[in-house]
Amino acid sequence: MPIQKVSKNRLLLHACCAPCSIAVINELRVEYELYVLFFNPNIHPEAEYLKRKSEVVRVCREWKVSMIDLDYESTLWEELVAPVSQKKEGGPRCSTCFRLRLARTADYAKEHGFVYFATSLTMGRRKDSTVINAIGRTIAVQFGLKFLDTNWKKGGRWETGRRLTEEWGIYRQSYCGCRFSLEEMAKR
Ligand code: SF4
Repeated sequence: MPIQKVSKNRLLLHACCAPCSIAVINELRVEYELYVLFFNPNIHPEAEYLKRKSEVVRVCREWKVSMIDLDYESTLWEELVAPVSQKKEGGPRCSTCFRLRLARTADYAKEHGFVYFATSLTMGRRKDSTVINAIGRTIAVQFGLKFLDTNWKKGGRWETGRRLTEEWGIYRQSYCGCRFSLEEMAKR
């Protein structure tokens, strides 16, 4: 009897960093034909951006998951958040930041024939998944795509991510990413 080949759905995952995405990649690579996209122009300074990116590259390489590395575009990010830059973490500055990253992911997904896209952003302990999912769903409608509504912190995934991050010796950052969050962290 011939073995039936099961073709999986292709999914484009926006990865914000390796500590947040390692458990997500591990799970989704089983369920989907997974592609990981790195687009995080919020990260400051550039050396930090390169450091975080290199850890995502390492995870994808190890698990043979295709990775798409888009341009840094930090100037665009600065322009977009300028009107809300003085707001605290968790407010409109973050919504603008999420929207840019998810819209760029959806744009790439649409252009390259994906139906599904998702993000690892909801793994962040200080990230409100309801805000991120609402933005993702709105963008999905705009682009005619399907967004995976998630709260990766749940179901033991946060703990799995923490364990894998430690086992792999992955760099774990101490602030969200932008220069404002770096300043806020320094004040704490
Ligand atoms: S705190 Fe994080 S989510 Fe908010 S604007 Fe800065 S980098 Fe983006």
